[in-house]
Amino acid sequence: MLRIGLVMLQGARHVHIAALTSAAADADIEIEIHELRKASDLIQAEPDALVFPGGESTTMRLTGNDPASGLLPAVFSWLRADATRPVLGTCAGAILLCDPRDGGEPLVAAEIDRNAFGRQVDSFQSALKSSLLARDFPGVFIRAPRFTNVGDSSEVVATLGEEVVGVRFGNRLALTFHPELSNDHGFHQWLLETVKKVAA
Ligand code: GLN
Repeated sequence: MLRIGLVMLQGARHVHIAALTSAAADADIEIEIHELRKASDLIQAEPDALVFPGGESTTMRLTGNDPASGLLPAVFSWLRADATRPVLGTCAGAILLCDPRDGGEPLVAAEIDRNAFGRQVDSFQSALKSSLLARDFPGVFIRAPRFTNVGDSSEVVATLGEEVVGVRFGNRLALTFHPELSNDHGFHQWLLETVKKVAA
């Protein structure tokens, strides 16, 4: 049984749970999903991997750093404690992985610019190419950030034309779109398969 922690700083709960459940069924992997709201939830859950959903990174920094939660520093130190720990960060989750602002190195070696595609009305859907999944993927972009620089130690794993939209840094994956909002659960499946390899 793999234990997946869902970072619940803002929104996107049901869709990530549905995507993880369906990916687990497809891959024939048993999982248990733990919703994390406070640092103590993370400690109790003892997850094997994390999903770091989107939302508004500014709000997520405020709520996650508030002493009532403390979840954000707990997530960062959980990731820093072991570089093999897998995480899937989408949109604002990707922003926080690339720019944690906790005094440490970026958790994914890439620079990212918030809201770089414009405002809410500039949200869009488009097929993208993913080398990680070896197929096209239906990308849903909502006030998406943009990678402005990808570190040498990171690998580009998804592109939209010339644009980098997915970066892998070891077992950490940062996507500027919302894979939980499409019916292809390949990135969630990648996370589960990565966890299985780490746990083996
Ligand atoms: N615009 C958001 C931010 O800057 C990210 C959007 C999202 O997660 N859908 O945090």
